[in-house]
Amino acid sequence: MVYRIDASDRTAFKRCRREWDLSSHNRQNLEPIRRPPGPIDLTRALRDALAVYYFPGMWEWDRVIVQPLVHQALDRSVRGQTEAPADQSWQELLAQGHALLDAYAAWAPTVDHFTPIRVETDFEVNVSDPATPGTNLLTPAGDEVRYGDRVDLLAVDADDAYWVIQHRLVTEEWTDRDALQLDEQTIAWAWAWPQFYLGMQITGTMYNEIRADAGGMGTPGTPPAQRSPVRHRRMYARSGTVSGERLHAEGTEAFRRTRIRRGAAELAAASAALAAEATAATSPNVEIYPSPAPAVCARCSYRAPCLLLNQGEDPTAEFSTSYRDRPLEPIQEGRLGGVTWSMNRGAAPPRWASRS
Ligand code: SF4
Repeated sequence: MVYRIDASDRTAFKRCRREWDLSSHNRQNLEPIRRPPGPIDLTRALRDALAVYYFPGMWEWDRVIVQPLVHQALDRSVRGQTEAPADQSWQELLAQGHALLDAYAAWAPTVDHFTPIRVETDFEVNVSDPATPGTNLLTPAGDEVRYGDRVDLLAVDADDAYWVIQHRLVTEEWTDRDALQLDEQTIAWAWAWPQFYLGMQITGTMYNEIRADAGGMGTPGTPPAQRSPVRHRRMYARSGTVSGERLHAEGTEAFRRTRIRRGAAELAAASAALAAEATAATSPNVEIYPSPAPAVCARCSYRAPCLLLNQGEDPTAEFSTSYRDRPLEPIQEGRLGGVTWSMNRGAAPPRWASRS
């Protein structure tokens, strides 16, 4: 069997053990039956649109042809997130997204000094056992521990250096530089990718920050700029040797691109941290306790059973009336950038381990 961890499971484990215990596929795997409709996720819609913008098969196309497809992707993503009929706030959000994409298309070619290789790509890799170099981590039950996530964009620059790139929608201040340097999700991408695609070492991580109000900062109706061609010499190879500053940021009032080189020691430390968390999470003695905090509990879907547990009551009846088993995430056939398991390997192992 396989014990799978993904980025959200990892975050939940560190945020609140009780929330993690109730929600994780590896634990009780519960989700509320009735979930109030949430706001439309503009970050998700932006990522879907940028997956078209950077789609490798269209990278050489005239941007005037690509841009309408980018806008269509935004429309599809927003419509796919809600069954509610379009209302004014919905239309305003779409208008905001379209203006933002036009402003982005006028700016991005000035900093896109790379060629996209993959967009929206899922990966899954074994977690190494730091106690025994060269071996994979196993749970106490003997299951392989695997870590998976989805990379927004993988690109190669003119020096044959490979980068993993994350798109971020920014609503307030730019992300603090230290927070970017410490960002465990993207460091995990850089650590995992060479194992998923053997031999493709990652030079570093890039953060593509876009202000949510970027559409109102440029000149309306600015046509998409054309790119200068970036020629890389080969694909699917070890990164070139690239020297340079560790962190480089450039941008405007509306957009910021930050590049951070990640060294071998940093990736090894990230691997060890992931193994330590997995070891703690799979221990038969793992402690489950709440970590209440206003910012954390405000968005938690398990407040009702949490309150019952805090009062020493049995939440079983609440579980049976208001919660159900969380289904597996449906596989989106034809998803842009979606790949099957078999990049360099055989058939995919079965999905989630059954609940204990
Ligand atoms: S309500 Fe707060 S303390 Fe309780 S499970 Fe949710 S996040 Fe944890």
